[in-house]
Amino acid sequence: MRLSNMLFVTLREDPAEAEIPSHKLLVRAGYIRRIGSGIYAYLPLMWRVLRKVSQIVREEMDATGAQECLLPQLQPSELWKESERWDTYTKAEGIMFALKDRQDRELGLGPTHEEIITTIARDMVRSYRQLPVNLYQIQTKFRDEIRPRFGLMRGREFIMKDAYSFDVGAEGLEQSYQKMNQAYHNMFHRCGLRFRGVEADSGAIGGSRSQEFMILADAGEDEVLYTEDGQYSANVEKAVSLPPDAEPSPFTTYEKRDTPNTPTIDSLCQFLKCSPTQIVKNVLYQAIYDNGMTVLVLVSIRGDQDVNEVKLKNELMRQAEQYNAKTLLSLTVPDAAAQQKWASKPLPLGYIAPDISDDYINPNKEVAPVFLRLVDKTVVELKNFVTGSNESGYHVVGANWGEQFQLPKLEVDLRKAKIGDRAIHNLAQTLQSARGIEAGHIFQLGTKYSNSMGATYTSESGEELPLYMGCYGVGVSRVAQAAVEQSYDKDGIIWPVAIAPYHAIISVPNVGDADQMAAAQKLYTQLNEAGIETLFDDRNERAGVKFKDADLIGIPYRIVTGRSLKEGKVEVVERATKKSQDIAIDEVMPTLKQWIDTALKAKA
Ligand code: ATP
Ligand code: MG
Repeated sequence: MRLSNMLFVTLREDPAEAEIPSHKLLVRAGYIRRIGSGIYAYLPLMWRVLRKVSQIVREEMDATGAQECLLPQLQPSELWKESERWDTYTKAEGIMFALKDRQDRELGLGPTHEEIITTIARDMVRSYRQLPVNLYQIQTKFRDEIRPRFGLMRGREFIMKDAYSFDVGAEGLEQSYQKMNQAYHNMFHRCGLRFRGVEADSGAIGGSRSQEFMILADAGEDEVLYTEDGQYSANVEKAVSLPPDAEPSPFTTYEKRDTPNTPTIDSLCQFLKCSPTQIVKNVLYQAIYDNGMTVLVLVSIRGDQDVNEVKLKNELMRQAEQYNAKTLLSLTVPDAAAQQKWASKPLPLGYIAPDISDDYINPNKEVAPVFLRLVDKTVVELKNFVTGSNESGYHVVGANWGEQFQLPKLEVDLRKAKIGDRAIHNLAQTLQSARGIEAGHIFQLGTKYSNSMGATYTSESGEELPLYMGCYGVGVSRVAQAAVEQSYDKDGIIWPVAIAPYHAIISVPNVGDADQMAAAQKLYTQLNEAGIETLFDDRNERAGVKFKDADLIGIPYRIVTGRSLKEGKVEVVERATKKSQDIAIDEVMPTLKQWIDTALKAKA
């Protein structure tokens, strides 16, 4: 492609809308253009990158025996009601765009396709002989994200590959899952990315086992905890670990102490000269379920630990039934306005004890009359601990479960694992932390959807059994931007060869020089014929401008028909290292071919 024929517009200034480097660079280099919040146009260079990522994904999916298809984006609400996800996905923090057609029928714009694929499997899979089967598609997804940001990283319209497997049982599902796991490793390697597969929370989609694939980059929204021995890595949302041991408490007798102005753990530790590991901290949350029921939740956890809100949400989902609810709509720390809706009197915030009276709650049919008291494992073993007194300005010290306080019955792991904690599999290993961008997610769904939607098959022995299902997603557009986030310098993007829009760019320093143009023209034809995708910067621009643009758009190899042309050579510059060498014109094609082949074979 000749640049003089392209819509080629680069910007010198960072766009105001962009916060992270990859977003700035993709806009500046003319890859993407913002059309609205979370809505982007993929311009020609970007589309080439996206096609390359898609092709790698497609080849790895095909290699597992999965079959490509294309499912509708307009999805009838009935299907989502059958799976009981319509409300979760359309109300409160739900992310599905919902609409009504001219006949007043409700539809959703596909954020994911479990309902559609399960309907197809229900209708078409009759017998165990048809299993296993795995269908995938590469397609635009729609999600009304609460905070669309970072360009393609969190768009409201983005490209995803999603695959769905169906098996006869848990064992078959495990095999399908492992195949996908391998395919995911292969595809991220082939894209030239540094990544990590991590244990993940299964979230609202349901099911049991799941793994995320994290592209490592400082701007990543996710935190990954891992051990140096490579035996453990997990999303912080899911991670487990052993916290440090609690220090023995100096408070051997129970008493109430005047502790003015100590509403935080830090201030309390300073005042009492104690360790946060001796404190039982009581954190108040407000949960709202889908039936409108508000539940006040009190979590007792050790003072040096934080609540993992994902684990807490999962526990509250497990408790939904006792409130006659199906799902949790929101979980917040109630501010003053929220407290007014249910508090019968001002709460002793910062001084709450595990046994705070239920009288603080003004019950009505939308507010549960008693606190849901949860206790994290970290406080169960504590002796002579410090905690609130339910009176502002006072704490108690030297308290014990079974003496001054009843240990709440619901004992759950609610703490957030953190860097420096000991690993469960080997206490000598401590957790390390890295930032990651979630690029892919594979799930074992089991029978969740086949049960709710009645998708069964006839087994060898003639029984009618539910299909075992797995689902496997990759954010194709997110991967493309994440590659930039992982690989850029002050001058611009450095694409991995495998997904670069073009392999090479020929920059002619002086288009008025007939020799330069003739050599460039010849190389351009020769390289493209040899399958080396080459751009030709034939614009009537200064050499400096061309070199800057070539660096900015990040093409792996730049060829300059400059001074060495007199000796029958051209300069070839590698974008990543800026290393330059003069190569005889006839050698350029075989040399580049070899470099590109090596780069494509190399594992990241
Ligand atoms: P996240 O936790 O980042 O919101 P998710 O868990 O909702 O993602 P999945 O439902 O597992 O995402 O979707 C599969 C893949 O699709 C993700 O791993 C990610 O790469 C991509 N993806 C999800 N949401 C977006 C989005 N808003 N914009 C771009 N890519 C996305
Ligand atoms: Mg996910």
